[in-house]
Amino acid sequence: MRSVAPQPVAYSLRGDTPVRYLRGVGPQLADKLARLEVRTLSDLLFHLPLRYQDRSKVTPIGALRAGQPAVIEAVVELADTVIRHRRVLLVRVSDGSGALTLRFFHFKQSQAEAFGRGVHLRCYGEVRLGAAGLEMVHPEYRILKDAGAPPEEAVLTPVYPATEGIGQAKLRALAGQALQWLGDDPALLPELLPEELLRQAHMPSLSEALRYVHRPPTDAPVAALMDGSHPAQQRLAFEELLAHHLSLRQLRQKADRSRAPVIAGESALADKFLGSLSFPLTGAQQRVAREILQDLSRPHPMMRLLQGDVGCGKTVVAALAALHCIGAGWQAAFMAPTELLAEQHYRSFLSWFAPLGLEPVWLAARLSAAQRALSLEKIRSGQAALAVGTHALFQTAVSFARLGLVIVDEQHRFGVHQRLALREKGAQAGAYPHQLIMTATPIPRTLAMTAYADLDVSAIDELPPGRTPVKTAAVSERRRSEVVARVHHACRAGRQVYWVCPLIEESEVLQCQAAEDTAAALTAALPKLNIGLVHGRMPARLKERAMAHFRAGDIQLLVATTVIEVGVDVPNASLMIIENAERLGLAQLHQLRGRVGRGALESGCVMLYHAPLSTAARARLEVMRTTNDGFEIARRDLELRGPGELLGTRQAGELRLRIADLTRDAPLIPRVQQTAGLLLERYPERVTALVTRWLGDGSRYREV
Ligand code: ADP
Ligand code: MG
Repeated sequence: MRSVAPQPVAYSLRGDTPVRYLRGVGPQLADKLARLEVRTLSDLLFHLPLRYQDRSKVTPIGALRAGQPAVIEAVVELADTVIRHRRVLLVRVSDGSGALTLRFFHFKQSQAEAFGRGVHLRCYGEVRLGAAGLEMVHPEYRILKDAGAPPEEAVLTPVYPATEGIGQAKLRALAGQALQWLGDDPALLPELLPEELLRQAHMPSLSEALRYVHRPPTDAPVAALMDGSHPAQQRLAFEELLAHHLSLRQLRQKADRSRAPVIAGESALADKFLGSLSFPLTGAQQRVAREILQDLSRPHPMMRLLQGDVGCGKTVVAALAALHCIGAGWQAAFMAPTELLAEQHYRSFLSWFAPLGLEPVWLAARLSAAQRALSLEKIRSGQAALAVGTHALFQTAVSFARLGLVIVDEQHRFGVHQRLALREKGAQAGAYPHQLIMTATPIPRTLAMTAYADLDVSAIDELPPGRTPVKTAAVSERRRSEVVARVHHACRAGRQVYWVCPLIEESEVLQCQAAEDTAAALTAALPKLNIGLVHGRMPARLKERAMAHFRAGDIQLLVATTVIEVGVDVPNASLMIIENAERLGLAQLHQLRGRVGRGALESGCVMLYHAPLSTAARARLEVMRTTNDGFEIARRDLELRGPGELLGTRQAGELRLRIADLTRDAPLIPRVQQTAGLLLERYPERVTALVTRWLGDGSRYREV
């Protein structure tokens, strides 16, 4: 029995009409489209080209190069079906400048017969070098009535995100159908941007923009479309960024409606703590501390991102916030991404808090069962004013007596999801803890406004006084012995040195092996020095002992894997050697280098590299050599890599932009923010529609 395909009924079509109402879409194709998250007519219209193929220029065959896509116009010289393992259709064509073979494995007899000698063709395909010279395998082609016919199609051909079983031709045809429906009835997709904005900013309407990007007209400006700067693309990018921004603002509104402990007034504990420090807070620390205390004094949860370069003193500020909270009778939790880092923080907090009569507890995966039970009990009873640890802090077994503040260090490793999960975890009787998120990865302002629009941002933009910029050099591996001599010299002068062997192998075992080998080689080369080793696979006890000896100055040269990337703090260490520096990203290099230059001593960093350097690696090392400024480094990083990687794959995955590009479209952001405010205030009913249109129904941001 055959099922009867539903007939499209024009007058009842809407944006949410399922794709199967389109011609030629059966249940199977609908399933495949669903894999592309295309379920409705509207989804199809918003399934936007990733890029375009430029078919505007015809290339003479004589000028073709293998590996490149090209359009050719040629005349058939010979068509032949041969049998080699299977039937193959070979069509020899030439255009006066050269000859080329078209190769087809799947074809109909009628198709083969159409390639008569002298027939004019226009073909598009990738050129490759075959056994008999240049060829195109399964090119798209069209038979021309006569030579030199003008192209009938768009100049630029859209390339859509595709999936197995749906090719570009199919997607183009479906988009064409959807555009036709839209042409018949523009009300199919409501315009959600305010009229006044479209007028002011000279933006095309939604349907105009969609039509343009799906089917650029023949006179379209090729260069603009190829790089995404055409007004039609910009208008869609704007709407997309707006939708993301709005979804985060919605989240924020929700937080602003929920309750949190009010923590206000003077705090004797905090004053005592400040008095116990051997230094005054910097102006930037004081300003940021005030911003945080302001937040804590309100009956709604703080959601604040604290940015500050490595070593600028974020932890002290966090401790201050925690003490205000503890003084008011609440608990605080401090979470770090790795055990080593959490341990380091635990030690700092212990030294700061013990004199105040407070007891921080430590919670990580590697605790023994008995220790763990003890920590859990102290957290549950409220005896622990502060809990420091890794993700382990937020597992189900952990329950806080009165959690008032959650501090998360090194935010770039956590996404929006984890941020929300943390919040929910701390919820008690409808009240949420305050949240302070700290990151040393400076995120350019425009990016922060998109990716972190639910957060307020504070920045410590000043280093404690007396720090000297780190002098950085890139040195070829071939001059290793000179570097070893420099290390020797530094240690003899009473300074301490890190020698970092970062991850270059996928395997941690190999990485640790490399560190062990390096330590052995350096020990042989520098027999008079005390050389220590830390790597991820050593027992925690030994790791801790090596770190303690290094801190105490007993170890002069510490060979380490990237376990020291974040948080380690030994002011007397003033020289760092980084192996395989050409393989590391800017953020990681900057983090590593941040371990030196913490005291008043002039510090140095040597980036050892293997020649020859790629262009990108050379650019990275050059950035490191010429600046110590974390914000500048992040800006260059963004340029060199793009925002997806800067945010970490997790977050980039969550953002999943279809048409906008955070680097290219950064200039749109101020207007995005403005418009978001306008919509929330004047057109609240459009907000959800926009978020749903671009982020889907079960908005990933809405709830955990
Ligand atoms: P971050 O976490 O921002 O990288 P830390 O909070 O670990 O930085 O601080 C780095 C070092 O600077 C620590 O040794 C800390 O005690 C010290 N420090 C913090 N604030 C000041 C200040 N205002 N003056 C001098 N030293 C400071
Ligand atoms: Mg830190």
